[in-house]
Amino acid sequence: MRVVIIGSNHAGISCAMTLSSYYKDIEISVFEESNSIAYIGADGLLWISGEIDNIEKTLYSSPEKLRAKGIDLHLNSPVYKVDTVKKEVFYKEDSQNKSLIYDKLVLATGSSPIRTLNDEKSILANKTKVLTAKTFSEGKELFEISHDKKLKKMAIIGGGYIGAEAAVAFREARDDIVIDLYQKSDQILNNYFDKEFAQFGEEELINHKINVKLNLTINESDVEKLNYDLILESIGFCPNSELIPQLDRLEPTGAYKVNFYGQTSDNDIYAVGDCASVYNNILEKDVYMPLGSYATHSAIIAAHHIGFVAQGLIPRHKHNGSEGASSVKIFDIILSSVGMTYENAQNKFASNAQYIDFSNVIKPKYLTEKQGNAPITIRVVFKKDTLQLLGFQIACGQDVTNLIHLLSLVLQKQMTAYQIRYLDMFFLPELNQVYNYLQRALSQVLKFGIIK
Ligand SMILES: Cc1cc2nc3c(=O)[nH]c(=O)nc-3n(C[C@H](O)[C@H](O)[C@H](O)COP(=O)(O)OP(=O)(O)OC[C@H]3O[C@@H](n4cnc5c(N)ncnc54)[C@H](O)[C@@H]3O)c2cc1C
Repeated sequence: MRVVIIGSNHAGISCAMTLSSYYKDIEISVFEESNSIAYIGADGLLWISGEIDNIEKTLYSSPEKLRAKGIDLHLNSPVYKVDTVKKEVFYKEDSQNKSLIYDKLVLATGSSPIRTLNDEKSILANKTKVLTAKTFSEGKELFEISHDKKLKKMAIIGGGYIGAEAAVAFREARDDIVIDLYQKSDQILNNYFDKEFAQFGEEELINHKINVKLNLTINESDVEKLNYDLILESIGFCPNSELIPQLDRLEPTGAYKVNFYGQTSDNDIYAVGDCASVYNNILEKDVYMPLGSYATHSAIIAAHHIGFVAQGLIPRHKHNGSEGASSVKIFDIILSSVGMTYENAQNKFASNAQYIDFSNVIKPKYLTEKQGNAPITIRVVFKKDTLQLLGFQIACGQDVTNLIHLLSLVLQKQMTAYQIRYLDMFFLPELNQVYNYLQRALSQVLKFGIIK
């Protein structure tokens, strides 16, 4: 069997490596239009902030490593057409048009940043550099600009995770530049947090002299007036899903629609990572969620599905759906969330949606900040009638984000506050309190079981 994979970043690499590690009789060909693989965008920002000194060390794979595993890797080889009837992919290599027949095809073509400003026009007009932070070459360019003394004033458009992280990175790198962060709505991080939790992050940004400009954005006509040296666009991603237009898509993004094994509407074609949809267990529908965590999971599952089917086995690896777990560090605060915000829950469940906020410290009060203690605030979103848990948001100065993984499972299993309030959680005074913050927060939720 020949498996052809299009795209060789996180999803493509995970799929190819899984196939080659577990299933010896499968021939694997991978086509990548760029000349670099395995670049983690978030690491580019850590490089700018000085947390990482050598970006090359963060590349977790290489063309040599893939080829050593027997993978037939073609760099600088864009696939421009697929004939799904003849099962043939057409690609360009060394200025020649070539093709290859597949038995199974995996689309791992990823996503592109949404752009609103025309780069070249802006540069010509007033020397403002307009960039996004997706590729390795952009990461290198941003790093160089961040250390260039000519950089005096920059704007970041979009106050999502990447915008907030970029603001932190540039401020850590440079204390002497103006940083304006534009956010179209009235709070940052609005896809993941309610307003009160986003404010924890906004305060940190403001305390570090980042001008958070809410309810504002800039367009091309503003670029000339505002005189920025650099504008970083971070307003989201759109899937690269134009290669096989006849496959079912998820509107409005156009991501390839897939089942729990990663199969598209053509059973021999899989779509994984940022070009594909994912089922959200809380919203109970397919959504577009371009995250590296899903990219690798979905790719590994698709590889096992292909491998099991090739051996005549009943497929056992299956995606369980997503709860949208995510986290961001903004200077001294770590915000993490999973499931629905209260605002989303209200949209879906109207007055049956409820939330409680609970604040405490993570360790016994007699332990100090130096001993790893820190304030924590948790929001629990739930259904008032059954106390089914719908979402969690956490703000803490210490890293308690592992809790989000547990809560992701709680949401996946549609558990109620009754079921996890008395979960067996250890107590060790150096690490937590006998009634820990999660259990105390859930006790507040349980009050709604008796107050009608
Ligand atoms: C700055 C930044 C920070 C991030 N931080 C996080 C984070 O902290 N946590 C997290 O989970 N996610 C994060 N993400 C998101 C994460 O990087 C993406 O979800 C991930 O890159 C998706 O991997 P992918 O392989 O599906 O797609 P991509 O990384 O987009 O790779 C797709 C590959 O396909 C190639 N390709 C496309 N079309 C063709 C074609 N026709 N022929 C040949 N090759 C083609 C492209 O060149 C590319 O190499 C971040 C992203 C950025 C930009």
